[in-house]
Amino acid sequence: MLQSVFCRLSRIPRVRRYSAAAAIPAPSTQPDIHFNKIFINNEWHDAVSKKTFPTINPTTGEIICQVAEGDKADVEKAVKAAKDAFKLGSPWRLTDASARGLLLNRLADLIERDKAYLASLETLDNGKPYHIAYMVDLDLVIKCIRYYAGWADKYHGKTIPIDGDYFCYTRHEPVGVCGQIIPWNFPLAMQSWKLGPALATGNVVVMKLAEQTPLTALYVASLIKEAGFPPGVVNIIPGYGPSAGAAIAAHMDVDKVAFTGSTEVGHLIQQAAGKSNLKKVTLELGGKSPNIILSDADVNFAVEEAHTALFFNQGQCCCAGTRTYVQEAIYDQFVEQSVERAKRRTVGDPFDAKNEQGPQVDEEQFNKILGYISTGKKEGAKLLCGGEVAADRGYFIQPTVFGDVKDEMRIAREEIFGPVMQILKFKTLEEVIERANDTKYGLAAAVFTNDINKAHYISHGLRVGTVWINCYDIFGAQAPFGGYKASGNGRELGEDGLAAYTEVKTVTTKVLKKNS
Ligand code: NAP
Ligand code: MG
Repeated sequence: MLQSVFCRLSRIPRVRRYSAAAAIPAPSTQPDIHFNKIFINNEWHDAVSKKTFPTINPTTGEIICQVAEGDKADVEKAVKAAKDAFKLGSPWRLTDASARGLLLNRLADLIERDKAYLASLETLDNGKPYHIAYMVDLDLVIKCIRYYAGWADKYHGKTIPIDGDYFCYTRHEPVGVCGQIIPWNFPLAMQSWKLGPALATGNVVVMKLAEQTPLTALYVASLIKEAGFPPGVVNIIPGYGPSAGAAIAAHMDVDKVAFTGSTEVGHLIQQAAGKSNLKKVTLELGGKSPNIILSDADVNFAVEEAHTALFFNQGQCCCAGTRTYVQEAIYDQFVEQSVERAKRRTVGDPFDAKNEQGPQVDEEQFNKILGYISTGKKEGAKLLCGGEVAADRGYFIQPTVFGDVKDEMRIAREEIFGPVMQILKFKTLEEVIERANDTKYGLAAAVFTNDINKAHYISHGLRVGTVWINCYDIFGAQAPFGGYKASGNGRELGEDGLAAYTEVKTVTTKVLKKNS
């Protein structure tokens, strides 16, 4: 039963949490940038167009460096490299399954070697607090890659007793060229969730990074080469969604696309697959996850968990507990304590271990969140704290809590992706299940109660891919994650995460009679 470090962090009191953070290596607040180009065939390339784009430090709004801007022409090059690497008889196709596991384990070792550097770079490019990047993101990354390394020679087919004199078996074969498009909220973790199962099962990859946060994933590309993966097995393209991302989704030689990001772009990916070669599609999209607090719950504990469920990662989590439903008997107390807790939340320089919250990822998200705060006020929700910009430079927003939120308000229906909490009141279990399910999303949910019967009753009624009971945001590489409804298709992590990266081939042989 492996719990994420985040879980352990969230369980220890705040003061102890910081002393735990003090034990981690000091960050490099100005990490050197080693890689800013396109990675194809284990080599670094300028964009065919020679164009570049700036990546920004969200703490200051300043440019960190220019990065090669891949587009359709670079996707063509990368897909060709991947196809060549996947040819029958290629070094990768001849690599034993156990050796694929060894390569993944080497990659995990190299990431572990450079953990403090990678966490520093993630903080610089994304804005998340360094101690979180180090203890949560990097921990998830290393464990995910090791977990899938273990699967490389264990995900096998079956011998099947079909009727007649036949020997029938199935083989789990790689799908082929996998396009992978990742977002900016957990750049390294999303990269590992996608590379782990794809490489364990023998696929080749063309990955597009989010334009806001290309730097850490490019550094990992250099570790992929150092680990010894053959050229062309992993190709990584920084660039923009509508050009590079769309070219992957529409490519006739891409056999599968895995996408994490907004539901809006998820629609486009699925359409592009339908219009091109019917490539397989897995989608991990948005959410508006309900976090249900029953009146018998330990209020102090539930307040702290609900706070973290929403504010973790600056509120930029697809599974954030954004609709906090509180049963009426404890509503007033819960709201009061939640506001107190949000006011105590420390916001500022993400390299400073005393801060729980850094900046939002970019100006666009910053403005979008401020827009939702003003919508919430106009719609009549009660702004209980925050609601303002939190610093005179960078993209910092005050931890914000709205009370008296009604289900039909936009702030209760749309994904805000920021540090803005909505608290809603409910009376009965039936009512809260119905209201919790009244959304196009179905990614995650949580229930806080001391009554296990009520916990399971609610859990079974919720149309979501993950339910946490008396906890939140607990991830293990071993447990599948993904959405019902418009929150996505397919699952990542766990054994279920392998299915999307394999084709099942049935081989049937006639067993000939000895004397024929
Ligand atoms: P997004 O546009 O969906 O971005 C996710 C990834 O898709 C990025 O790599 C993006 O490239 C790429 N992309 C964009 N348009 C594309 C297209 N037409 N074809 C192929 N790929 C494309 O998300 P966003 O604009 O960064 O954020 C908007 C909202 O999405 C957020 O406010 C949040 O609600 C949601 N979101 C959800 C998640 C999640 O984990 N489920 C993660 C991030 C955002 P670019 O970098 O060039 O945009
Ligand atoms: Mg950046």
